[in-house]
Amino acid sequence: MQVGMQTDKGRVRPDNEDFCWAEPPWFAVADGMGGHAAGEVASRMAIETIKEMMTQTDKVTSEQLSKAVEEANRRIWHASRNTLEYAGMGTTLTVVYLAPSHAMVAHVGDSRCYRLRNQKLQLLTFDHSVVAELVRTGTLSEREAEHHPQRNFLTRALGTSPHVEVDIFREDIAPGDLYLLCTDGLTAVLEHERIETILSGIPTPEAAATQLIAEANAKGGPDNITVVLVQVPPAVGQS
Ligand code: CA
Repeated sequence: MQVGMQTDKGRVRPDNEDFCWAEPPWFAVADGMGGHAAGEVASRMAIETIKEMMTQTDKVTSEQLSKAVEEANRRIWHASRNTLEYAGMGTTLTVVYLAPSHAMVAHVGDSRCYRLRNQKLQLLTFDHSVVAELVRTGTLSEREAEHHPQRNFLTRALGTSPHVEVDIFREDIAPGDLYLLCTDGLTAVLEHERIETILSGIPTPEAAATQLIAEANAKGGPDNITVVLVQVPPAVGQS
């Protein structure tokens, strides 16, 4: 399994509040929010909770993964209530577990998971944001959503309330599939078609990750940018 992972603070923000993790078969990104260093604490706490609770188990189930995300939520919520500097902190979290036969995805917030298959890029997660909900109900068009002043407002995040609803689903795996996990610092500035072109045209996940970060920064790098790319091995006989 080939992996490319990069995180960059972009060209505007003073700190990087994103956090990422790639330890096959586990992959995750988290985009923290909160004053001072609190966003960094929240995103790290989310991923470290998943790591602690999931990497010791023999058989991974969606119930266990869902429980681990709920536990991450609880820990961040309690830290934000008990420590003044952490008040109001929260984070997105998108986790992929890549088993031999399927991928399991757990997701809260507006980070994303995409899959490139046969050079077509498909978004697998749904953004938990005010604007995405408005697009889903037909109140806003995709175009209007791109420039909407509330496009960063989340309807779900980890750590901002005592309970969280977790999206969790399975996807089949095909040889050669390429998974992309990313924070909104990428998707706010690079269009779907551009990401598809980069991923289709660059042979290694490491080089594709470098290119995605470079293009997001070339577009102003207004936010922290994080990408995790995982390539499922091609079928035997293919290259
Ligand atoms: Ca962000």
